[in-house]
Amino acid sequence: MRIDVVSIFPEYLAPLELSLIGKARQDGLLELNVHDLRTFTTDKHRTVDDTPYGGGAGMVMKPEPWAQALESIADARIADSQEAATGDSADGPAKKPVLIVPSPAGERFNQALAYELAEEEQLVFACGRYEGIDERFMEWAAARFTVRPVSLGDYVLNGGEVAVLAMVEAIGRLLPGVVGNPESLVEESHSDGLLEYPVYTKPSSWRDRDVPAVLLSGNHGKIAQWRRHEQFRRTAERRPDLLAEFDAGGLTRADRTAFGELGYEVVEGRLRRRADSGPAD
Ligand code: SAM
Repeated sequence: MRIDVVSIFPEYLAPLELSLIGKARQDGLLELNVHDLRTFTTDKHRTVDDTPYGGGAGMVMKPEPWAQALESIADARIADSQEAATGDSADGPAKKPVLIVPSPAGERFNQALAYELAEEEQLVFACGRYEGIDERFMEWAAARFTVRPVSLGDYVLNGGEVAVLAMVEAIGRLLPGVVGNPESLVEESHSDGLLEYPVYTKPSSWRDRDVPAVLLSGNHGKIAQWRRHEQFRRTAERRPDLLAEFDAGGLTRADRTAFGELGYEVVEGRLRRRADSGPAD
């Protein structure tokens, strides 16, 4: 995968040289380029923003430096590509790269979107600042890119860089070879619509607290069932909204009993709070 990030603070992206993502870059599993938006300005002050039409507080990012930056990235991609001659491959027209525009007004980023984006060949991230980027840039970009405004969550950051750090890490760790043991990706929060079970390590007794006995039993069937039911309990406690979306069709009788103890019943393949179980937390 190739990732391009455009920002007025390229040094903000330095953490992507560290840890698993940094190693993936060194190992050639991920090509990641960070571009300074100001290098695509033409005035001596390297201006990237101006006052908003219609008045109001704050500044708006000018569209032209963004268009120049994205044209430069698209040109570099075509020059690198084997398909440069036609822009097409044997499978048909070349696919448009995805342009992710971090925005609190975008679709919510989640694990499902991380998996979806991990399938792409190229992702471009446009880190906005101030009040965001002139809307005409998004319209212009739609001809060359699949444009996706994406939000990290329902709160407002100062710029897109923190959102990009989070998204690149979440997407990058799904690329083949990035996480040493791919099994780690299977049993984790949000991989199956539930939160992960609690985890423990040595010593088995620490400050008068013991590891749950089942984990020391060596009985793999019982351990698997305990973990699954802990997933149910934790999700019901912390994120009941996830249970409303959970596909309950494949639950075993023991699973249904466990959910019953948590105040849930299965109705038409979905989990519902039982009327007698009180409001969800
Ligand atoms: N005026 C914008 C609004 O209310 O939607 C907020 C602009 S914010 C101060 C500046 C930049 O931070 C945005 O253009 C975006 O790139 C980034 N940003 C802020 N909150 C974000 C979030 N929740 N998710 C992703 N990016 C965010």
